[in-house]
Amino acid sequence: MTTRHRYAVLVVGGGVMGLATLEALTRRTRAPVGLLEQHTLAHSRGSSHGAVRIARSAYADAVYARLMQRAYAEDWPRLAADAGETLLLGSPGCFFGAGAAIDTYRDAVRAAGLGDDAVEELAVDEARRRYPSMRFPNAAYVLDDHTCHVVAADRTTAALARLARKRGAAIHEGHALLELDLAGRGVRVVSGDVEIDCDAVVVTAGPWVRRLVPKLARPLTALRQTVAFFRPSADPAAFRLGRFPLWCEVGHDDAMHYALPELDAGLLKIARHRLTGPDDDPDADAAPDPAEVERLREVASRVMTVAVGTAERADTCLYTCTPTEDFVIGALPGERRVVIGAGFSGHGFKFAPLVGRVLADLALDGRSSVPEFEAERARFAAG
Ligand SMILES: Cc1cc2nc3c(=O)[nH]c(=O)nc-3n(C[C@H](O)[C@H](O)[C@H](O)COP(=O)(O)OP(=O)(O)OC[C@H]3O[C@@H](n4cnc5c(N)ncnc54)[C@H](O)[C@@H]3O)c2cc1C
Repeated sequence: MTTRHRYAVLVVGGGVMGLATLEALTRRTRAPVGLLEQHTLAHSRGSSHGAVRIARSAYADAVYARLMQRAYAEDWPRLAADAGETLLLGSPGCFFGAGAAIDTYRDAVRAAGLGDDAVEELAVDEARRRYPSMRFPNAAYVLDDHTCHVVAADRTTAALARLARKRGAAIHEGHALLELDLAGRGVRVVSGDVEIDCDAVVVTAGPWVRRLVPKLARPLTALRQTVAFFRPSADPAAFRLGRFPLWCEVGHDDAMHYALPELDAGLLKIARHRLTGPDDDPDADAAPDPAEVERLREVASRVMTVAVGTAERADTCLYTCTPTEDFVIGALPGERRVVIGAGFSGHGFKFAPLVGRVLADLALDGRSSVPEFEAERARFAAG
């Protein structure tokens, strides 16, 4: 039997961006709002699963450094207060690499108006004294980002879903959007035996977005990442939160590698930030690549003085990449009823509550309450 629903806004996709949008909608309107998720919330086939992510101001682009200041000042504190829990955990954070690559970060941070109190430039010897667990190989200098945090990622997605449900939003799990019918005044969505009429739809479908919205102007590539988790081989507490700086090494072998503590689990999470390669099928079953796990162990040993043991486990996760690594946030050209949030290019999580606010604003009003986004709308446009 077909069930019918009517929502002011329907969100398609229950990763962190969809849940943040739904939560923001419940703060903006008393009208009914809902979300469709093809799997169950917190599934591990997309981009948002796992315990931790990095939040930082050190960026190679001043626009994102500015957006992050807004998210730190307004969106994360508001969400933590509503959720009644700590979602960002302070951690030292170091960014380093050779020559031009790290210069781009330093210049962007300064262009965003951030001084040494936020991101401090350290000579390598001073950085090694400050952080004895780090070797900082081939570093020209080190950026010590005093704004860094570890995001409690799965706690964040759980909190967003909890808050949205508490305020009356409907979340339909196990329902894939199959058809988007724009023929009428509103939008009709069909998912098996569920039919939904709504005024607007926000599509936050991660790596699946191209199937739903094939006419997106910017090319999007799904890229599977291998993530490994290591224990130290000697001091069991060496990889605990606060015991070493989370770090990003840029420009080595044309790659960026990063590592961070898995909260208090005593594990080092490490991965290569892979932004190029053939398009991956998000529905394919893919195991982590053991050769990549071994390479990551070598990277950790090259960068850190702490003896790294064998991998406790490894995982995969998908990026949805645009050629410039810019997010796609905006309505489809000539179609205000369909708002897209996609292409988060492996660096979206730290912005999730701010992105959710923007997407909810766009669906309801056509413009957002975030000045740093409004100033750069063309860069993020879906068309
Ligand atoms: C290994 C890894 C490390 C990362 N590290 C960081 C970091 O340190 N800092 C940072 O800021 N960011 C980081 N990111 C990026 C961040 O996690 C992503 O930008 C973010 O999770 C993207 O969320 P999303 O909601 O757009 O996509 P997803 O989480 O993929 O969600 C999309 C959802 O849509 C659903 N869906 C798709 N099609 C349909 C349909 N037809 N009907 C219904 N539902 C549908 C999917 O099932 C999925 O649940 C990392 C990402 C990865 C993979």
